[in-house]
Amino acid sequence: MQMQAAMLTEAHSPFKIETIDIDPPKAGEVLVKMAAAGICHSDWHLVAGKAPFPAPIILGHEGSGIIEAVGAGVKRVKPGDHVTLSWKACCGECFYCQQDQPAICDAHAAEINAGLMSDGTARMRWRGERVYILGGLGTFAEYAVVRQESVVPIRKDVPLAVAALVGCAVSTGVGAAIYTAEVRPGQSVAVFGAGGVGLNIIQGAALCGADPIIAVDANSNKMEIARDFGATHCLMSDDSVVAEIQKLSEGRGADHCFESVGIPALQETAIAAVRPGGIVTLVGITPQDAGTTILGQVITVSERKIRGSAYGSVNPTRDFHLFLDLYQAGKLKLEELVTQRYRLDEINEAYASMLTGGVARGVIVF
Ligand SMILES: [Zn+2]
Ligand SMILES: [Zn+2]
Repeated sequence: MQMQAAMLTEAHSPFKIETIDIDPPKAGEVLVKMAAAGICHSDWHLVAGKAPFPAPIILGHEGSGIIEAVGAGVKRVKPGDHVTLSWKACCGECFYCQQDQPAICDAHAAEINAGLMSDGTARMRWRGERVYILGGLGTFAEYAVVRQESVVPIRKDVPLAVAALVGCAVSTGVGAAIYTAEVRPGQSVAVFGAGGVGLNIIQGAALCGADPIIAVDANSNKMEIARDFGATHCLMSDDSVVAEIQKLSEGRGADHCFESVGIPALQETAIAAVRPGGIVTLVGITPQDAGTTILGQVITVSERKIRGSAYGSVNPTRDFHLFLDLYQAGKLKLEELVTQRYRLDEINEAYASMLTGGVARGVIVF
């Protein structure tokens, strides 16, 4: 079978739409006809040369679709099922899954990081050459062959463009507030970065009953949408932001600060803006070679805590359902996140638009 895919052949070059040969799913694998794929900032690190990758590769780690075929032994889904794809293929059995920390499950990590399937081979070829996939998925393509652990069957009454976002931005953001930080009612929250993930941290904090919820961004255009998602105050990211946050929290600093972008200097500001004894949750992924300066004494004597949040500490199988149920109940805004829709061959425009901060979330619709 053949399909169209957006391929990255080297860093610092645009995506190219190519015709790819695709093999049927092997045992334990499924073929997904993609419906939607989200434009997430994390893929950009590879394009920008900030993270090494095997090439040629199909990027995209946020998506939804319909199961077209299943390989031998697949019990989790059947053809016709709607699914949201998960970039963490949780095994349910490893040490981390047993500790109820499936977001850091390491069962398939080595092969997924290598861009391959669990048997160490690939299902895609381009001009006879092996094609790698990101996150065990590769959603920037008409079809994906993935492990059955990489899909979560979902209710069919949810638009698939909305369901795609649950696979990364929503889980990462809402999960960070609910699970990683464990925000409590009445606590003060500051969220640095009001993009796709930041808006979800804001609505996650609102679900937890936080007040005030302070959105911080360098782009004043994002203030209005931040308020729509539950921010009670919006601040520009400038030299006075720490003092402004302290003013809104009786001089102490916020109970919780979240950094959603992955910029070391912004992480340092988030640490400065949290109150003594408060919790800083780092959500954004920094470039691989970047370091963040943490003043050890400030952490020790004031008991400020720093938590890393991978995938919002969610359990994809459990929480994709939870988030879609909350959406259907009118308690989570998902449709409003999709501010721009693109065709696959518009992917370079989609990323250009994301980089200028113009959209909450762009989604490729197939
Ligand atoms: Zn992502
Ligand atoms: Zn596991």
